[in-house]
Amino acid sequence: MKKILVTGGAGFVGSHLCERLLNEGNEVICLDNYFTGSKNNIVHLLDNPFFELIRHDITMPFFIEVDEIYNLACPASPIHYQHNPIKTIKTSVMGSINMLGLAKRIGAKILHASTSEVYGDPEQHPQKESYWGNVNPIGTRSCYDEGKRCAESLFVNYHLQNKVRIKIIRIFNTYGPRMHPNDGRVVSNFIVQALKGEDITIFGDGKQTRSFQYVDDLVEGMIRMMNTDESFTGPVNIGNPGEFTMIELAEKVLKTTGSKSKLVFLPLPADDPTQRQPDISLAKQMLNGWEPTIPLEEGLVKTVQYFKNLLNL
Ligand code: NAD
Ligand code: UDP
Repeated sequence: MKKILVTGGAGFVGSHLCERLLNEGNEVICLDNYFTGSKNNIVHLLDNPFFELIRHDITMPFFIEVDEIYNLACPASPIHYQHNPIKTIKTSVMGSINMLGLAKRIGAKILHASTSEVYGDPEQHPQKESYWGNVNPIGTRSCYDEGKRCAESLFVNYHLQNKVRIKIIRIFNTYGPRMHPNDGRVVSNFIVQALKGEDITIFGDGKQTRSFQYVDDLVEGMIRMMNTDESFTGPVNIGNPGEFTMIELAEKVLKTTGSKSKLVFLPLPADDPTQRQPDISLAKQMLNGWEPTIPLEEGLVKTVQYFKNLLNL
Protein backbone atom coordinates (compact mmCIF):
# COMPACT_ATOMS: atom_id res chain seq x y z
CA MET A 1 0.00 0.00 0.00
CA LYS A 2 1.42 3.38 -1.07
CA LYS A 3 0.69 6.66 0.70
CA ILE A 4 -0.25 9.19 -1.96
CA LEU A 5 -0.88 12.93 -1.71
CA VAL A 6 -3.23 14.48 -4.29
CA THR A 7 -3.28 18.29 -4.31
CA GLY A 8 -6.45 19.70 -5.85
CA GLY A 9 -8.04 16.35 -4.98
CA ALA A 10 -11.53 17.82 -4.45
CA GLY A 11 -11.58 19.21 -8.00
CA PHE A 12 -12.94 17.64 -11.16
CA VAL A 13 -9.90 15.56 -12.21
CA GLY A 14 -8.50 15.17 -8.69
CA SER A 15 -11.66 13.52 -7.37
CA HIS A 16 -11.53 10.85 -10.10
CA LEU A 17 -7.84 10.29 -9.41
CA CYS A 18 -8.40 9.93 -5.62
CA GLU A 19 -11.18 7.41 -6.28
CA ARG A 20 -9.05 5.33 -8.65
CA LEU A 21 -5.99 5.35 -6.35
CA LEU A 22 -8.15 4.23 -3.40
CA ASN A 23 -9.71 1.45 -5.53
CA GLU A 24 -6.22 0.22 -6.31
CA GLY A 25 -5.56 -0.21 -2.58
CA ASN A 26 -3.57 2.92 -1.79
CA GLU A 27 -3.86 5.33 1.12
CA VAL A 28 -4.85 8.73 -0.27
CA ILE A 29 -4.48 12.16 1.30
CA CYS A 30 -6.53 14.75 -0.55
CA LEU A 31 -5.48 18.35 -0.07
CA ASP A 32 -7.61 21.25 -1.34
CA ASN A 33 -8.51 24.86 -0.55
CA TYR A 34 -11.96 24.45 -2.20
CA PHE A 35 -11.48 27.41 -4.54
CA THR A 36 -13.01 25.55 -7.49
CA GLY A 37 -13.30 22.10 -5.91
CA SER A 38 -16.05 20.86 -3.67
CA LYS A 39 -16.61 18.37 -0.86
CA ASN A 40 -19.50 17.02 -2.99
CA ASN A 41 -16.91 15.60 -5.39
CA ILE A 42 -15.32 13.40 -2.73
CA VAL A 43 -18.11 12.94 -0.18
CA HIS A 44 -18.55 9.32 -1.32
CA LEU A 45 -14.94 8.61 -0.34
CA LEU A 46 -15.16 9.95 3.21
CA ASP A 47 -16.23 6.63 4.74
CA ASN A 48 -13.08 4.95 3.47
CA PRO A 49 -10.58 4.78 6.39
CA PHE A 50 -7.71 5.04 3.88
CA PHE A 51 -8.95 8.41 2.61
CA GLU A 52 -8.01 11.63 4.41
CA LEU A 53 -9.21 15.11 3.51
CA ILE A 54 -7.23 18.21 4.46
CA ARG A 55 -8.16 21.85 3.82
CA HIS A 56 -4.91 23.52 2.84
CA ASP A 57 -3.65 26.06 0.32
CA ILE A 58 -0.49 24.89 -1.47
CA THR A 59 0.90 28.41 -1.59
CA MET A 60 1.69 27.68 2.10
CA PRO A 61 4.24 25.00 3.04
CA PHE A 62 2.85 21.59 3.96
CA PHE A 63 4.56 18.79 5.85
CA ILE A 64 3.67 15.12 5.53
CA GLU A 65 5.33 11.79 4.73
CA VAL A 66 4.12 10.13 1.52
CA ASP A 67 5.52 7.97 -1.28
CA GLU A 68 4.02 9.88 -4.21
CA ILE A 69 2.56 13.32 -4.89
CA TYR A 70 0.16 14.24 -7.71
CA ASN A 71 0.21 18.04 -7.96
CA LEU A 72 -3.12 19.09 -9.49
CA ALA A 73 -4.04 22.13 -7.39
CA CYS A 74 -4.75 25.06 -9.72
CA PRO A 75 -7.97 26.48 -11.16
CA ALA A 76 -8.27 25.25 -14.76
CA SER A 77 -11.17 27.16 -16.28
CA PRO A 78 -10.32 30.56 -17.84
CA ILE A 79 -13.05 32.40 -15.87
CA HIS A 80 -11.74 30.94 -12.62
CA TYR A 81 -8.02 31.37 -13.23
CA GLN A 82 -8.62 34.95 -14.42
CA HIS A 83 -10.72 35.78 -11.33
CA ASN A 84 -7.57 36.33 -9.25
CA PRO A 85 -4.64 36.10 -11.68
CA ILE A 86 -1.97 36.82 -9.08
CA LYS A 87 -3.28 33.98 -6.93
CA THR A 88 -3.25 31.70 -10.00
CA ILE A 89 0.44 32.48 -10.58
CA LYS A 90 1.18 31.96 -6.88
CA THR A 91 -0.55 28.58 -6.95
CA SER A 92 1.52 27.41 -9.93
CA VAL A 93 4.83 28.90 -8.80
CA MET A 94 4.83 29.03 -4.98
CA GLY A 95 2.63 25.94 -4.82
CA SER A 96 5.07 24.00 -7.01
CA ILE A 97 8.04 25.20 -4.95
CA ASN A 98 6.30 24.01 -1.76
CA MET A 99 5.39 20.62 -3.23
CA LEU A 100 8.84 20.14 -4.79
CA GLY A 101 10.48 21.09 -1.49
CA LEU A 102 8.29 18.50 0.21
CA ALA A 103 9.20 15.85 -2.41
CA LYS A 104 12.88 16.69 -1.99
CA ARG A 105 12.80 16.38 1.82
CA ILE A 106 10.90 13.09 1.92
CA GLY A 107 12.25 11.56 -1.31
CA ALA A 108 8.78 11.24 -2.84
CA LYS A 109 8.08 10.93 -6.55
CA ILE A 110 6.06 13.92 -7.81
CA LEU A 111 3.86 14.29 -10.89
CA HIS A 112 2.82 17.71 -12.12
CA ALA A 113 -0.40 18.44 -14.01
CA SER A 114 0.80 20.82 -16.70
CA THR A 115 -1.33 21.79 -19.66
CA SER A 116 -1.63 22.07 -23.43
CA GLU A 117 -1.89 25.81 -22.71
CA VAL A 118 1.93 25.89 -22.53
CA TYR A 119 1.71 25.71 -26.36
CA GLY A 120 -0.40 28.92 -26.35
CA ASP A 121 -1.94 29.66 -29.77
CA PRO A 122 0.14 26.99 -31.52
CA GLU A 123 1.84 27.53 -34.86
CA GLN A 124 2.56 23.79 -35.14
CA HIS A 125 -0.27 21.32 -35.51
CA PRO A 126 -0.74 18.83 -33.95
CA GLN A 127 1.41 19.77 -30.97
CA LYS A 128 4.42 17.63 -30.09
CA GLU A 129 6.24 17.91 -26.76
CA SER A 130 9.26 19.36 -28.60
CA TYR A 131 7.26 22.48 -29.63
CA TRP A 132 8.06 25.47 -27.38
CA GLY A 133 4.76 27.24 -27.86
CA ASN A 134 3.40 30.65 -28.78
CA VAL A 135 2.30 32.35 -25.56
CA ASN A 136 1.51 36.02 -24.93
CA PRO A 137 3.44 36.70 -21.70
CA ILE A 138 1.28 39.71 -20.78
CA GLY A 139 -2.11 38.48 -22.05
CA THR A 140 -5.19 37.60 -20.01
CA ARG A 141 -4.32 33.89 -20.13
CA SER A 142 -0.71 34.41 -19.08
CA CYS A 143 -1.38 33.98 -15.36
CA TYR A 144 -2.21 30.37 -16.20
CA ASP A 145 0.02 29.68 -19.25
CA GLU A 146 3.13 31.31 -17.89
CA GLY A 147 2.49 30.02 -14.36
CA LYS A 148 2.37 26.48 -15.76
CA ARG A 149 5.46 27.10 -17.90
CA CYS A 150 7.35 28.36 -14.86
CA ALA A 151 6.17 25.31 -12.91
CA GLU A 152 7.59 23.04 -15.64
CA SER A 153 10.91 24.86 -15.33
CA LEU A 154 10.83 24.45 -11.54
CA PHE A 155 10.13 20.73 -11.86
CA VAL A 156 12.93 20.19 -14.37
CA ASN A 157 15.42 22.16 -12.29
CA TYR A 158 14.55 20.44 -9.00
CA HIS A 159 15.22 17.23 -10.90
CA LEU A 160 18.55 18.38 -12.36
CA GLN A 161 19.81 20.22 -9.28
CA ASN A 162 18.30 18.21 -6.42
CA LYS A 163 17.64 14.82 -8.06
CA VAL A 164 13.92 15.02 -7.25
CA ARG A 165 12.05 12.26 -9.10
CA ILE A 166 9.66 14.22 -11.31
CA LYS A 167 7.01 13.49 -13.95
CA ILE A 168 5.38 16.20 -16.09
CA ILE A 169 2.20 15.62 -18.08
CA ARG A 170 0.61 18.16 -20.43
CA ILE A 171 -3.12 17.63 -20.21
CA PHE A 172 -5.36 18.54 -23.18
CA ASN A 173 -9.01 19.60 -22.72
CA THR A 174 -10.63 17.01 -20.46
CA TYR A 175 -14.31 16.69 -19.57
CA GLY A 176 -16.59 14.38 -17.64
CA PRO A 177 -18.79 14.01 -14.56
CA ARG A 178 -18.00 16.34 -11.61
CA MET A 179 -17.13 19.34 -13.74
CA HIS A 180 -18.73 22.27 -11.95
CA PRO A 181 -22.01 23.33 -13.65
CA ASN A 182 -20.77 26.95 -13.59
CA ASP A 183 -17.23 25.98 -14.42
CA GLY A 184 -17.24 28.06 -17.60
CA ARG A 185 -15.44 25.50 -19.75
CA VAL A 186 -17.03 24.71 -23.04
CA VAL A 187 -18.27 21.14 -22.55
CA SER A 188 -20.02 21.81 -19.24
CA ASN A 189 -21.38 25.15 -20.51
CA PHE A 190 -22.92 23.60 -23.64
CA ILE A 191 -24.40 20.61 -21.77
CA VAL A 192 -25.95 22.73 -19.02
CA GLN A 193 -27.31 25.23 -21.56
CA ALA A 194 -28.75 22.43 -23.72
CA LEU A 195 -30.39 20.69 -20.76
CA LYS A 196 -31.95 23.93 -19.51
CA GLY A 197 -33.12 24.89 -23.02
CA GLU A 198 -30.96 28.03 -22.93
CA ASP A 199 -28.99 29.42 -25.87
CA ILE A 200 -25.68 27.67 -26.59
CA THR A 201 -22.97 30.34 -26.30
CA ILE A 202 -20.43 29.99 -29.09
CA PHE A 203 -17.49 32.34 -28.69
CA GLY A 204 -16.18 33.80 -31.97
CA ASP A 205 -17.19 32.07 -35.20
CA GLY A 206 -17.06 28.65 -33.52
CA LYS A 207 -14.48 27.38 -36.02
CA GLN A 208 -11.71 27.19 -33.41
CA THR A 209 -10.86 23.61 -32.49
CA ARG A 210 -10.15 21.62 -29.34
CA SER A 211 -9.52 17.90 -28.79
CA PHE A 212 -11.63 16.50 -25.97
CA GLN A 213 -10.52 13.72 -23.63
CA TYR A 214 -12.81 11.83 -21.26
CA VAL A 215 -11.58 11.99 -17.67
CA ASP A 216 -11.09 8.21 -17.20
CA ASP A 217 -8.57 8.16 -20.06
CA LEU A 218 -6.63 10.98 -18.40
CA VAL A 219 -6.54 9.24 -15.01
CA GLU A 220 -5.24 6.05 -16.65
CA GLY A 221 -2.50 8.06 -18.39
CA MET A 222 -1.55 9.86 -15.16
CA ILE A 223 -1.12 6.64 -13.21
CA ARG A 224 0.86 5.00 -16.01
CA MET A 225 3.11 8.08 -16.15
CA MET A 226 3.74 7.96 -12.40
CA ASN A 227 4.81 4.33 -12.79
CA THR A 228 7.25 4.85 -15.69
CA ASP A 229 10.96 4.24 -15.36
CA GLU A 230 12.72 6.86 -13.23
CA SER A 231 14.72 8.19 -16.18
CA PHE A 232 11.54 9.30 -17.97
CA THR A 233 10.47 12.68 -16.62
CA GLY A 234 8.36 13.90 -19.55
CA PRO A 235 6.81 16.26 -20.43
CA VAL A 236 4.33 13.99 -22.14
CA ASN A 237 1.04 14.98 -23.82
CA ILE A 238 -2.06 13.27 -22.42
CA GLY A 239 -5.09 13.95 -24.57
CA ASN A 240 -7.47 12.57 -27.16
CA PRO A 241 -6.46 13.50 -30.72
CA GLY A 242 -10.13 13.62 -31.85
CA GLU A 243 -10.36 17.30 -32.90
CA PHE A 244 -13.65 19.23 -33.21
CA THR A 245 -14.76 22.80 -33.90
CA MET A 246 -16.95 24.40 -31.22
CA ILE A 247 -19.87 24.28 -33.69
CA GLU A 248 -19.35 20.52 -34.12
CA LEU A 249 -19.23 20.12 -30.34
CA ALA A 250 -22.47 22.12 -29.95
CA GLU A 251 -24.17 19.91 -32.56
CA LYS A 252 -23.06 16.75 -30.76
CA VAL A 253 -24.33 18.11 -27.44
CA LEU A 254 -27.70 19.00 -29.02
CA LYS A 255 -27.95 15.50 -30.49
CA THR A 256 -27.01 13.77 -27.22
CA THR A 257 -29.42 15.83 -25.12
CA GLY A 258 -32.21 16.04 -27.72
CA SER A 259 -32.33 19.76 -26.94
CA LYS A 260 -33.84 22.45 -29.19
CA SER A 261 -31.51 25.17 -27.88
CA LYS A 262 -30.28 27.71 -30.45
CA LEU A 263 -26.66 28.60 -31.12
CA VAL A 264 -25.75 32.23 -30.35
CA PHE A 265 -22.44 33.81 -31.28
CA LEU A 266 -20.63 35.95 -28.69
CA PRO A 267 -17.26 37.77 -28.90
CA LEU A 268 -14.17 35.59 -28.80
CA PRO A 269 -12.14 36.07 -25.58
CA ALA A 270 -8.64 37.54 -26.01
CA ASP A 271 -5.82 35.16 -26.97
CA ASP A 272 -8.23 32.25 -27.44
CA PRO A 273 -6.18 29.55 -29.25
CA THR A 274 -7.45 28.83 -32.76
CA GLN A 275 -6.58 25.14 -32.84
CA ARG A 276 -5.32 22.43 -30.53
CA GLN A 277 -4.65 18.73 -31.01
CA PRO A 278 -2.20 16.52 -29.14
CA ASP A 279 0.42 14.38 -30.83
CA ILE A 280 0.34 11.38 -28.50
CA SER A 281 3.10 9.26 -30.06
CA LEU A 282 5.37 9.77 -27.04
CA ALA A 283 2.62 8.75 -24.60
CA LYS A 284 1.88 5.61 -26.63
CA GLN A 285 5.56 4.71 -26.67
CA MET A 286 6.39 5.46 -23.02
CA LEU A 287 3.12 4.58 -21.26
CA ASN A 288 2.78 0.95 -22.36
CA GLY A 289 0.67 1.68 -25.42
CA TRP A 290 -1.65 4.07 -23.56
CA GLU A 291 -4.21 5.75 -25.77
CA PRO A 292 -7.66 7.19 -25.21
CA THR A 293 -10.45 4.62 -25.37
CA ILE A 294 -13.57 6.78 -24.98
CA PRO A 295 -14.68 8.77 -28.04
CA LEU A 296 -16.44 12.12 -27.60
CA GLU A 297 -19.90 10.72 -28.43
CA GLU A 298 -19.61 8.11 -25.66
CA GLY A 299 -18.10 10.47 -23.07
CA LEU A 300 -20.82 13.04 -23.76
CA VAL A 301 -23.54 10.48 -22.94
CA LYS A 302 -21.97 9.81 -19.51
CA THR A 303 -21.43 13.52 -18.84
CA VAL A 304 -24.95 14.49 -19.90
CA GLN A 305 -26.34 11.84 -17.54
CA TYR A 306 -24.30 13.31 -14.68
CA PHE A 307 -25.60 16.84 -15.29
CA LYS A 308 -29.19 15.59 -15.67
CA ASN A 309 -28.99 14.04 -12.21
CA LEU A 310 -27.24 17.07 -10.74
CA LEU A 311 -29.82 19.49 -12.14
CA ASN A 312 -32.76 17.15 -11.31
CA LEU A 313 -33.86 17.01 -14.95
P1 NAD B 1 -10.59 22.08 -11.03
O1 NAD B 1 -10.66 23.56 -10.96
O2 NAD B 1 -11.84 21.30 -11.01
O3 NAD B 1 -9.66 21.51 -9.88
C1 NAD B 1 -8.59 22.22 -9.30
C2 NAD B 1 -8.59 21.95 -7.81
O4 NAD B 1 -7.48 22.63 -7.21
C3 NAD B 1 -9.86 22.48 -7.11
O5 NAD B 1 -10.35 21.50 -6.24
C4 NAD B 1 -9.36 23.72 -6.37
O6 NAD B 1 -10.16 24.00 -5.24
C5 NAD B 1 -7.95 23.31 -6.03
N1 NAD B 1 -7.04 24.45 -5.80
C6 NAD B 1 -6.89 25.56 -6.58
N2 NAD B 1 -5.95 26.36 -6.04
C7 NAD B 1 -5.49 25.74 -4.92
C8 NAD B 1 -4.52 26.08 -3.95
N3 NAD B 1 -3.82 27.23 -4.01
N4 NAD B 1 -4.31 25.21 -2.92
C9 NAD B 1 -5.03 24.05 -2.83
N5 NAD B 1 -5.97 23.68 -3.72
C10 NAD B 1 -6.19 24.53 -4.76
O7 NAD B 1 -9.74 21.74 -12.36
P2 NAD B 1 -9.39 20.34 -13.03
O8 NAD B 1 -9.97 20.35 -14.38
O9 NAD B 1 -9.71 19.24 -12.11
O10 NAD B 1 -7.81 20.47 -13.21
C11 NAD B 1 -6.90 19.80 -12.36
C12 NAD B 1 -5.48 20.10 -12.82
O11 NAD B 1 -5.30 19.64 -14.16
C13 NAD B 1 -5.14 21.58 -12.82
O12 NAD B 1 -3.80 21.73 -12.39
C14 NAD B 1 -5.27 21.98 -14.26
O13 NAD B 1 -4.44 23.07 -14.58
C15 NAD B 1 -4.83 20.70 -14.96
N6 NAD B 1 -5.40 20.63 -16.31
C16 NAD B 1 -6.72 20.33 -16.48
C17 NAD B 1 -7.25 20.31 -17.76
C18 NAD B 1 -8.69 19.98 -18.02
O14 NAD B 1 -9.12 20.06 -19.16
N7 NAD B 1 -9.48 19.55 -17.05
C19 NAD B 1 -6.43 20.61 -18.86
C20 NAD B 1 -5.11 20.94 -18.63
C21 NAD B 1 -4.60 20.94 -17.36
N1 UDP C 1 -16.14 28.44 -25.62
C1 UDP C 1 -17.34 28.70 -26.25
N2 UDP C 1 -18.46 28.85 -25.47
C2 UDP C 1 -18.43 28.74 -24.12
C3 UDP C 1 -17.20 28.46 -23.48
C4 UDP C 1 -16.07 28.32 -24.26
O1 UDP C 1 -17.42 28.79 -27.47
O2 UDP C 1 -19.50 28.88 -23.50
C5 UDP C 1 -14.94 28.25 -26.46
C6 UDP C 1 -13.71 29.05 -26.02
O3 UDP C 1 -13.71 30.34 -26.58
C7 UDP C 1 -12.60 28.17 -26.56
C8 UDP C 1 -13.15 26.76 -26.47
O4 UDP C 1 -14.56 26.90 -26.33
O5 UDP C 1 -12.35 28.48 -27.91
C9 UDP C 1 -12.63 25.97 -25.27
O6 UDP C 1 -12.80 26.76 -24.11
P1 UDP C 1 -12.50 26.21 -22.65
O7 UDP C 1 -12.63 27.37 -21.72
O8 UDP C 1 -13.31 25.00 -22.40
O9 UDP C 1 -10.99 25.70 -22.74
P2 UDP C 1 -9.62 26.36 -23.26
O10 UDP C 1 -9.90 27.59 -24.07
O11 UDP C 1 -8.86 26.66 -22.03
O12 UDP C 1 -9.04 25.30 -24.11
